[in-house]
Amino acid sequence: CGIVGAVSTKNIVPILIEGLKRLEYRGYDSCGVAVHQGGELRRARSTARVAELDARVAEDKIDSGTGIAHTRWATHGAPAEHNAHPHFSPGPQNKQGTDQSGVTAVGRIALVHNGIIENHDELRNELKTRGYVFDSQTDTEVIAHLVDHLYEGDLLAAVQQATLRLRGAYAIAVFCRDEPHRVIGAREGSPLVLGVGVGERKGDFFLASDAMALAGVTDQIAYLEEGDVVDLQLGKVWITARSHGGVMFKTVEREVRT
Ligand code: GLU
Repeated sequence: CGIVGAVSTKNIVPILIEGLKRLEYRGYDSCGVAVHQGGELRRARSTARVAELDARVAEDKIDSGTGIAHTRWATHGAPAEHNAHPHFSPGPQNKQGTDQSGVTAVGRIALVHNGIIENHDELRNELKTRGYVFDSQTDTEVIAHLVDHLYEGDLLAAVQQATLRLRGAYAIAVFCRDEPHRVIGAREGSPLVLGVGVGERKGDFFLASDAMALAGVTDQIAYLEEGDVVDLQLGKVWITARSHGGVMFKTVEREVRT
């Protein structure tokens, strides 16, 4: 139901948690956060309130400049911790597992999603034949494995290609273990905005499903359009949109407003 994401040189976990708190009014049944930390994907998820998630994050010392967070309103798969986002893809034929603490999971791709993927059954069957093991009942997990399948060292290209396979509505935020300072966002049918850091946050970039989630962080907002895929890196950002009849992508400008 809500998304927040960030790329910064500083710890962004408090911004992610505060963003989720600002989105709580929309309602949700579970919440979660994932970051790139120590060369791995780390996450905390909860079926309780964001305040409980915040306590877990502190307890597990989840701390990073790169991360994504989510409040879920379940559409596919019961409200439960294993169905809560972020979802990870550990790659094919590699049983998805967590260590004893349940914090550091085997994974290469971390992803959050708002919306509904209509062709999730077809994609799940295809990915299963490619050796992907599913850990949840969500439509969202297929996107994580699809991005992993399409990943050849460039997360932007993988997410662009993945969006061409998705039917339905989505706003997503994704990062990859192999690209520590990068978050990719994409939207179609669900809202997503880009926040541009200013002042002491110059060079930082943010994603959110609602500009309000970034109040107090930045008031410099670009509203992404249908089909946009945005590439957030330290000190640089690109927005791309479909071109050539929808089969390729080109860089586009979106106005930054306050
Ligand atoms: N369809 C996804 C799920 O059930 C995302 C729901 C949402 O927008 O929060 O997990």
